[in-house]
Amino acid sequence: MQKDYLIIGGGLAGLFFAHELEEAGKSFCLINGFEPKAASKIAAGMFGPLGGQLSKLAWKAPEMMDALISTATALEKKLGSNFFHLMPVEVAFGSVKDANDYASRNRNEIIDQYLSDRKEGSTHLQAPYGSFEMLRSGWLNTNLMIDTYTAYLKEKGIYRQHFLDYSDLVQTETGWNYQQESYKKIVFAEGIGALQNPYLKEVMPFKLCKGQVLTIYCEGLAADRIVKKGIYLVPLGNHLFRAGATYEWDEINDIPNDHGKEEMCQKINALIHLPFSVLNQDAGVRPTTKDRNPVIGKLKFADGLYVLNGLGTKGVIRGPWLAKILFDHIEHNLTIPREVSIDRIKQA
Ligand SMILES: Cc1cc2nc3c(=O)[nH]c(=O)nc-3n(C[C@H](O)[C@H](O)[C@H](O)COP(=O)(O)OP(=O)(O)OC[C@H]3O[C@@H](n4cnc5c(N)ncnc54)[C@H](O)[C@@H]3O)c2cc1C
Repeated sequence: MQKDYLIIGGGLAGLFFAHELEEAGKSFCLINGFEPKAASKIAAGMFGPLGGQLSKLAWKAPEMMDALISTATALEKKLGSNFFHLMPVEVAFGSVKDANDYASRNRNEIIDQYLSDRKEGSTHLQAPYGSFEMLRSGWLNTNLMIDTYTAYLKEKGIYRQHFLDYSDLVQTETGWNYQQESYKKIVFAEGIGALQNPYLKEVMPFKLCKGQVLTIYCEGLAADRIVKKGIYLVPLGNHLFRAGATYEWDEINDIPNDHGKEEMCQKINALIHLPFSVLNQDAGVRPTTKDRNPVIGKLKFADGLYVLNGLGTKGVIRGPWLAKILFDHIEHNLTIPREVSIDRIKQA
């Protein structure tokens, strides 16, 4: 029998879309190639509502936060697992100017819901210019979410572990066939794997960004918040912290190197007063685009093909909202905001 959807990619994008389909009672199958270095597996999983500037919300931040909280809470319940951690992020100002800009920000009710002026910062934070707290933020244990959701989909018999052979996709009158199965629609959510996708490789405006992360051991640092100044430390429990990340635009590969380790160790030393040891180092490639915005929507040159990609540096906060917007566009013909729509990109 023909299924409603075939999803290609089982990282954050593909799984958040799968959740939307389940919520709506749609039938689907998800195909995911085994890629231990996929961005979703390397990610530190941090999320928060602020953009580049300390006193400004990121674009659509309230809507994205709502979507993330409702999706992650529903997923935790469905999967019987605990991978979503809401906690404040304490941000140390990097300069007097940062502190002054923050103090003289345009106050309004919306942004102030997300900020708290702490009178006393964390003891071990190096914050000579002070700090503030970002609320309704935290981190998603992406590995745990991926593992539990994947196991759940496997159990239901709707997960296949292999890389899609694009030459086996055959368009029919009612949708697409792939290896003896028939689907009405296909959603491509392959992250940087889209570079191998003949339908997408000319379309995706990638400007990829390598990132390196460390796992450190540090006694004495509070585990009830994330701390941040240039780099962030996410508490994993048992005195372990994920430190992230580097942003490297020139040498794109998923190989950790000494340069990345040194850069992060220096930044950790500038962030906290405590000694630490490095237990692990990892690297991955973020699916970032030239204008830094995601790409979602329908491919123009063939019916029934859709894309959910370009989550960039913020897959956690963006993913659930984008999955909902794409689903509502496909099923209810709602408009995709131009900022994230594939329509802003020239398609052959
Ligand atoms: C070092 C680092 C730190 C990061 N930290 C954060 C953070 O703190 N917070 C945050 O929000 N974001 C963070 N990110 C970004 C985040 O990881 C990404 O935005 C997000 O994971 C992208 O998800 P995705 O599903 O689009 O892509 P991916 O995670 O790459 O998943 C794509 C999946 O598709 C599969 N696939 C590809 N091609 C095929 C095919 N042909 N057939 C079948 N399967 C295929 C791949 O194997 C992979 O499993 C970080 C990224 C890096 C690298």
